[in-house]
Amino acid sequence: MIYDLHSHSNFSDGALTPRQLVDRAIEFGVDVLAITDHDTIAACRENLANGRNIQLVHGIEFSTQWENTGIHVVGLNFAADSAIIGQAANQQTAARQLRAQQIADNLEKQGISNALAGARSYSPGGYIGRPHFARHIVSIGKAKNMQAAFKHYLAAGKSGDVKKTWASLEQVIQWILAAGGIPVLAHPLKYPLTRSKLLRLLQDFRQLGGLAMEVVSGQQNPDQTRSMAELCRQLDLLASCGSDFHGPETHWAELGKFQPLPVGITPVWERF
Ligand code: AMP
Ligand code: MN
Ligand code: MN
Ligand code: MN
Repeated sequence: MIYDLHSHSNFSDGALTPRQLVDRAIEFGVDVLAITDHDTIAACRENLANGRNIQLVHGIEFSTQWENTGIHVVGLNFAADSAIIGQAANQQTAARQLRAQQIADNLEKQGISNALAGARSYSPGGYIGRPHFARHIVSIGKAKNMQAAFKHYLAAGKSGDVKKTWASLEQVIQWILAAGGIPVLAHPLKYPLTRSKLLRLLQDFRQLGGLAMEVVSGQQNPDQTRSMAELCRQLDLLASCGSDFHGPETHWAELGKFQPLPVGITPVWERF
């Protein structure tokens, strides 16, 4: 069975519609898929599996922060009709709008003209994330590609890295638990944290009610997987895995294509 429990549709910063995403997941042999859009459950409200050869698990990826580092918490297998998760997504969507204004103000001060309107022009649905600002920055010639736009303007510690509008870590964990879901610390290797700080983050996360971590997130080497499995065991967390797929053009992250979870840790789906 292939479980891909982290992916994005164009309801957030993915390239495909939820239906196209599900079609592609089936094509790539995924048996169980979670669409985990940033701060929205719009895709969960669509009836996508209906008679097809795939099982869908409700998901969301909440933005939050811990000690001034922006981090992401995936919620899995909650009741999508729970009022709590709907209100949580609405609150985060409002926070995202406010944050877009703050990012734009910061970027303007750094010489990026027309930042908000430019970012909006790449998002017909109205969702705005840092990738939309990155595309605008590239389009006006202030960076040579998306990677460079992130590196100079949007990555951790840069002026476009605005985190204070998000709900607290404690709050997002509570929302997920209250909706009957499982809080999962997303892609632990993606944060600018030393191993000892990552350990502290995981300890805090668990203490606040967090239940799982992504042991495998997209392409990582066997050493990284071993290291994450070790942390997972040490903290007695459940183990999740996913591609963090955003679209066909990001060829390094494909639906269902990542290392299997190591043995000796408990897969998160045992609690579904
Ligand atoms: P946001 O949700 O607005 O904070 O934007 C974060 C998103 O930006 C992530 O989920 C990725 O999709 C994307 N991202 C983060 N870092 C990079 C990068 N270096 N290059 C391209 N996209 C990135
Ligand atoms: Mn994203
Ligand atoms: Mn993420
Ligand atoms: Mn993601």
